[in-house]
Amino acid sequence: MRKPTTTRPIIDIHVHVLPPDACGEQGYVSTKQWNWPSFLLLRMRHRIKRQETIGGNGIIRSQLARAVADMRAVDRVVALALDGVYDNMGRKDSRRTHFYVANDYVFELSKTDDRFLPGPSVNPMRRDALEELDRCLDLGAVLLKWLPNSQGFDPMDPSLVPFYRRMAQARLPLLCHTGPEYALTTAERKFGRLEGLRLALDEGVTVIAAHGGGADILNLGRTFHTVADMLLKHTNLYADTSAFTQPNRSWFLRRFLRHPELHPKLIHGSDVPLPIIPWLFLRSLPFREIVRLSRVASPIDRDCLIKQSLGFPDGVFRRGSELLRMDRASP
Ligand SMILES: [Zn+2]
Repeated sequence: MRKPTTTRPIIDIHVHVLPPDACGEQGYVSTKQWNWPSFLLLRMRHRIKRQETIGGNGIIRSQLARAVADMRAVDRVVALALDGVYDNMGRKDSRRTHFYVANDYVFELSKTDDRFLPGPSVNPMRRDALEELDRCLDLGAVLLKWLPNSQGFDPMDPSLVPFYRRMAQARLPLLCHTGPEYALTTAERKFGRLEGLRLALDEGVTVIAAHGGGADILNLGRTFHTVADMLLKHTNLYADTSAFTQPNRSWFLRRFLRHPELHPKLIHGSDVPLPIIPWLFLRSLPFREIVRLSRVASPIDRDCLIKQSLGFPDGVFRRGSELLRMDRASP
């Protein structure tokens, strides 16, 4: 067995959480989002009947608590918040916000259980964006999460330069969704383009493009070359492996597997609670290995073990602990 190159912890940098009260201060799911296909699946899988109980009946919360309690392969996870949509005066636009998870919720989670690391989200268009960014830094944010397609802003907007500079100075990485968004309602598709991260990169921010830079089954070939070129060109650009164990992105996983020169630019992430499906790799792994993986108790572990079995090197799984802003508050 190959020895790990480092003893750094394995961190899953991409886990979504939902507050117990998903129709209150700490979280919000709109009716449109509630009826979106990904949420329909989630509702069916967990038999959630009423919108206001999506988090409150404890199913999602207890599933996540169990997934984390059962972790043996993964040491820690980044719990992601999601800020809302803001109008051009910088005020929260409740009408256009369909899914929201408060920063305070992820800070609270990480306070009660140190296996959760806080990944807050600040829409840079909000009037108090810099103040909120500073507050999150003080509270120990390990990264900042954006989903520009759903949050409705353009990451290339020149007015974001001071925000990027503050992030670069604090060495806070940006985990930014790239590619089409399926799980959440989308405001502007074009804001998810990988090329839209150039301004952040030029301002010195460490950027982690979610889902390997965003290609999926519909635009595989062209996007893979764009992603590969950008990853090799920008020393401060990385890509996470989240949603790679989903049907629409498993092809992308295979492309990355065949390009070892890109492995130093990959960071492990799962995208739990989206389902983790070992059966997608029937052609790549022995049948009994697939059976073993599908019996792994924690989906967070399952995602990590699938990728390890497929042959991603150890460094991919431990890179999170190098890049995240860990323990900056303590001397
Ligand atoms: Zn995600």
